[in-house]
Amino acid sequence: MAIQLSNKQDTFRQFSLRRAAELKQMIIPYIEKSKTIPTGLTSSDANHFRRNRILSHFDATLQDWENWHWQIQNRITDPKILKTLLPNLTSEDCDEIERVSKTFRWAVSPYYLSLIDDKDPHDPIRLQGLPSRAELEDHFGEEDPMGEALTNPAPCITRRYPDRLIINVTNMCAMYCRHCQRRRNIGETDTHAERVQLLAALDYIRANPEIRDVLVTGGDALLLSDLTLDWLLRELHAIPHVEIKRLGTRVPVTMPMRITKELCSILAKYPPLYINTQFNHPLEVTPNAKKAADKLVAAGVILGNQAVLLKGINDQPEVMKKLNQELLKIRVRPYYIFHAKNVKGTRHFVPRVQDGLAVMEHLRGYTSGLAIPTYIINAPKGGGKTPILPQYLVSLEKNKATLRTWEGKYVHYETP
Ligand SMILES: *Cc1c(COP(=O)(O)O)cnc(C)c1O
Repeated sequence: MAIQLSNKQDTFRQFSLRRAAELKQMIIPYIEKSKTIPTGLTSSDANHFRRNRILSHFDATLQDWENWHWQIQNRITDPKILKTLLPNLTSEDCDEIERVSKTFRWAVSPYYLSLIDDKDPHDPIRLQGLPSRAELEDHFGEEDPMGEALTNPAPCITRRYPDRLIINVTNMCAMYCRHCQRRRNIGETDTHAERVQLLAALDYIRANPEIRDVLVTGGDALLLSDLTLDWLLRELHAIPHVEIKRLGTRVPVTMPMRITKELCSILAKYPPLYINTQFNHPLEVTPNAKKAADKLVAAGVILGNQAVLLKGINDQPEVMKKLNQELLKIRVRPYYIFHAKNVKGTRHFVPRVQDGLAVMEHLRGYTSGLAIPTYIINAPKGGGKTPILPQYLVSLEKNKATLRTWEGKYVHYETP
């Protein structure tokens, strides 16, 4: 049955239809571009092929693959083994990796390695996981641009803000990101904090009741054993003024098999618990990552993402938009985009601030607000997280503002 509209309603409907058509046109270029951006789902056949090749090299089973201890024990650290697992790497690539690894440590979990397309020298997973000579050519970067060494009031603690702090529980990770901002801590060996240090950190928190938010990180917080995590979370949970606990971990991305049933039953005991992870590219949003996120959500954990804006990896606005949309699908809420810092050996990843602004400009209005994280530059010398936005407030005096809308229209706005 046709709906009868009055003349006035008809005019409104015609207007709305024209506007809707205009909006539809606006998103078409992105939809076309988006089809060319691979994700962990679209590349899952290739990932399985490489997984099987890795398993046959180690003479291991799918059950081994799903065991995070197996993943850790078999992290790839030898360029010769790398060459057999990723045969499309050239011998020059492997020589280069060998050379860089004398200065900067590297290791990649078999899982993360299986996501690398070795035919593509610019593959975003490869760039994050495998060393390149650019690391040795960085003569500007600093070891500790955030000045973290001077924010350490108790063992393992970094305190930079009034009401919250970090406990660094380990320097270990499932893989050592080439863009790591805490490279200076990686060292030559994996070490967890000692129990006495953690006890001293807990004492500090107990003695400072304004600390309402404790962030357990490293390294990677989820490389602690279940036993230690259970203990540490229980201790934190028992401190009345600690309102929320957070874990910083990249294992949902780099070794999702760490998210076991046993781990989840531990995490479920200590709400409210937030986990912030670091997906940097849609290729990392794999079925395995989704499974890990599903389990964490079922355990009542609230998931957020802290991406790092990396030149040549995710500095194209469409890639970042797709990443954030893929994350919402697996119930990970984009929280921050960090501008990469000038850490020694990572300069080749540092984009321009203009690139970050272009990403933010491309998000607001064009996609769900839920898919829009805050863009942060860490101010040098430990100045702290500083939010950066494109200019939407053009001028402001007394009760009059000029705004620029997401579409770039200038409007005046008045308050009483
Ligand atoms: C990033 C950070 C935090 C957490 O900051 P939020 O903006 O609350 O996520 C806390 N302490 C230190 C030292 C940090 O670097």
